[in-house]
Amino acid sequence: MRALVKAKAEPGIWMEERPVPEIGPDDVLVKVRKTGICGTDIHIYNWDDWAQKTVPVPMITGHEYAGEIVAVGADVRNLRVGQRVSGEGHVVGMKSRASRAGKYHLDPDTKGIGVNLPGAFAEYVRIPAFNIVPLPDSIDDDIGAILDPLGNAVHTALSFDIVGEDVLITGAGPIGIMGAAVARHVGARHVVITDLNADRLNLAAEVADVVPVNVATEDLRTAMDRLGMREGFDVGLEMSGAPAALDQMIDHMVMGGRIALLGVPARPFIFDLGKVVFKMITLKGIYGREMFETWHKMLAMLESGLDVRKVITRRMRAEDYAEAFERAAGGEAGKIVLEW
Ligand code: ZN
Repeated sequence: MRALVKAKAEPGIWMEERPVPEIGPDDVLVKVRKTGICGTDIHIYNWDDWAQKTVPVPMITGHEYAGEIVAVGADVRNLRVGQRVSGEGHVVGMKSRASRAGKYHLDPDTKGIGVNLPGAFAEYVRIPAFNIVPLPDSIDDDIGAILDPLGNAVHTALSFDIVGEDVLITGAGPIGIMGAAVARHVGARHVVITDLNADRLNLAAEVADVVPVNVATEDLRTAMDRLGMREGFDVGLEMSGAPAALDQMIDHMVMGGRIALLGVPARPFIFDLGKVVFKMITLKGIYGREMFETWHKMLAMLESGLDVRKVITRRMRAEDYAEAFERAAGGEAGKIVLEW
C-alpha cells in the first residue's frame, strides 16, 4: 500500500510502499478515504525538537482520518465490515488508576497513532476496536477526517459553562475557529477571536458568527467597548501557544474568569502569575479529547446544526502530498484534506 512515511530523521515526508498492516484479535483494519493534515504532522514534517524527541523513524504519520472497515479481529463484536468510521488517535492503556476509573484521556501510558504507532496517512490503517467511532450517514468523509481537531475544539470549548457568557479565543487556526463555532452553537453571548493573521481572521468570520479582532492593528479593549462589554471576558480559550496572547487574555478576563489552554508554547516562558492569583482565575490544561464523551457531544452537535465545513479550504489527492505539506507548513489558514 502507499503510505506517507517519516522515513529519515530530517525535515520532510516521503511516500513509500508498505505492507498492509496485520490486525490482532481486538483490532480493525480501516481502508482510509480522507485524512486531515494537523499541526502535529507539521511538527513531524519540520522535524522540530518535539518531533525528534517523540517520533521513532521510520513511522507512517497521520491521525485524522475517515474510512471504512474492511476487516475485524476475531474478538471484535460490535463493529462490522463496511461500516464508515473515524476514531480516537490516542491509544490508551487499561492499567492506570485513571483508565480504571473510565477517564481514559488521563491515562499516562497513552500512545499516538501517527506519532509513535503506525498512522493513517496510508491506504490502510490498523486501529484498536476500542478507538473506533462509527460515522452517522449525515457526516461525510470530509467532516469525518477532521473530527480529531474538531474534538480538540469541543473539548476546550465545553471545559467551562459558556452559556450566556462572553468568550475570548486567542488564535484563529482551524481549532480556534472551530472552537468559536462551538461556543456560538452552544449559546455564548459574545465570541471574540484574536490573531495577527488577517487571512485566518477572515476565515473565522466566514465559518462562525464571531467578532474577529486583529490585535496587530486593533486594541482588544476597543472591541469590547464596541460590544458594550464592561468588565471582561468570562471564559478564555487559549489556542495559540503564544505568550503574548496569554498575557493579553489574562488582562482582559473578569475577576474569577476561567481559561482553558490548548495552545502549546514552543518553549517555557515567563508570565505574571500574580495576575492569575489576584484575579482568582482558573487555568485548565486541555489535551486531546475525552473518550468518548467529547466524540458523543461532537457528533450530536454536528447533527443538530453545528457547521464547520468551511474550515476545510483545500482538498487534494494524497499523491500531491509534497505541495499539501508545503502549504500547511507555510501557514495556510484553513484545513487541508487529502483523498486516498
Ligand atoms: Zn490532529
